[in-house]
Formats: sequence, C-alpha cells, structure tokens
Amino acid sequence: MNTDSQISRQSELIIAYQAVKKRFQDCSIQYNRKEDELLLLVVSKLKPVSDLLILYDKQGVRNFGENYVQELVSKAAELPADVKWHFIGNLQTNKCKDLARIPNLYAVETIDTLKKARKLEEARAKYQPDRPAILCNIQINTSNECQKAGVKGEVELASIVEFFLSEEVKHIKLHGLMTIGFREFSHNNASENQDFATLVKWKEKLEFKYNIDLKLSMGMSADYEQAIKQGTHEIRIGREIFGARPTK
Ligand SMILES: *Cc1c(COP(=O)(O)O)cnc(C)c1O
Repeated sequence: MNTDSQISRQSELIIAYQAVKKRFQDCSIQYNRKEDELLLLVVSKLKPVSDLLILYDKQGVRNFGENYVQELVSKAAELPADVKWHFIGNLQTNKCKDLARIPNLYAVETIDTLKKARKLEEARAKYQPDRPAILCNIQINTSNECQKAGVKGEVELASIVEFFLSEEVKHIKLHGLMTIGFREFSHNNASENQDFATLVKWKEKLEFKYNIDLKLSMGMSADYEQAIKQGTHEIRIGREIFGARPTK
C-alpha cells in the first residue's frame, strides 16, 4: 500500500519532470533541433531508488546519470536491466574495474586521461566481454579551472582520441566530448556561453583532424537552454527534476 507521502512524492516528481521535458522540447523546436538527436539525461545522484523507479515506471525514463561508483553499483543491481546508466562523476583509475563490471553501464562521460581509458577497456574486456562497448565522452576542462577535472592540453587530448581509434580498443567507444561549464558563465545572460563555445571548437577540430563524428554533452539545470542553442546533444539535469540534493 502506498502511503500519502509516497503518493505526493510521486506527483511532485512527475510534475517537475514533465515541466523540464516540456521546456526541453520547446527549446529544441526553437533552435531547430530534432528530438531524436537530443537526450535529456536524468541525473539521479544521491536520490533514492524509489525516485528513480517512479520516473522509470510512470514516465518511461531509461537513461540515468550517476556520480559515485558505489552508489551506481548498488542502484544498477536494484533497477531493471534495461536502464542505460551513465557515469558522470569524477573518475578514478582504480574504480574503472568496478564500473566495467556493471553489465548495463551504457556510458562513461568523464574520461580525462589515457590511463583511465586504457583501464576501462582492459576491465570491460575482462569482466563483460560480450556486452556492447561502453560509450565514452572525453571530459574537457574548458574553463581551465585547476580544481576541475578534464583534459587541459591538446597533446593529452590527441593521445586519448588516438587510443580510442586504435584497433586494440574494442570494449569502449569514443562517443563525444563533455564539459561542466564555469559557474559564472552559467549565471550571466551573455549571448554565448564561452565554455560551450570552446567545446564546440574542440569538436570541430577533432572531427576534421580524425574524420570522425562526435556528440556533445553540456548543459545542466542552470544553463541547459543555452547549451541546446549552442548545439549540445545531451543535457544533464538533476536539481530541476528532483529538487535540492542532500550533501554527500
Ligand atoms: C550533478 C551533475 C549534474 C546535474 O546538475 P544539476 O545542477 O543538478 O542539474 C550534471 N552534470 C554533472 C557532471 C553533475 O555532476
């Protein structure tokens, strides 16, 4: 039996999700983006499985983004197997094997060193060799903030891309580029977000140099409309759907 508070959480969450989805769709139309080339990734870190199940059951959500490896491992064990899990947190080399074991891990969006890419490939080959390749985004530190993760230099970036394109790599696949915008840019009303523009430039440069096609993951609750305008393929939304997060 559902208690009153479960029922009110359910309606609250559905209303919030539908509102974000509506804005997302309106915005896509406004900027001439096709719905099937844009993903609304629901970022569920620090939120209970019961919340995820509401969106899974009642709204058909299948893509969820998580930041903490242990939390993702346990949620993956509790939710249905057709969930597409995206890891979007700070990646540590020694955690790559725990991620690689998750059969339905769909994407890792925060590859920022060659070492981590290698480790993930090795671990996937070892633990889940028959599952589809994990889609990977290279995280770029577009704002050059030293405390922030992400590739900062062109040489490092080239080495990671070239690793993905080499024949030895079979269990992970280069999908695109990801950035977390600088806070200040997300909260002013400039016509262009500089971090997003920088990520678009990297995409164009790499596509030209390697003759490949890359997707972009940029835009969160505070700045996703701008990201859609500037050409993102994925926005990552947490607070706007779930409300404030507890501190970890
Ligand atoms: C938490 C997080 C998000 C979601 O941020 P909100 O402001 O809650 O929408 C998106 N991307 C990354 C990398 C995150 O860590």
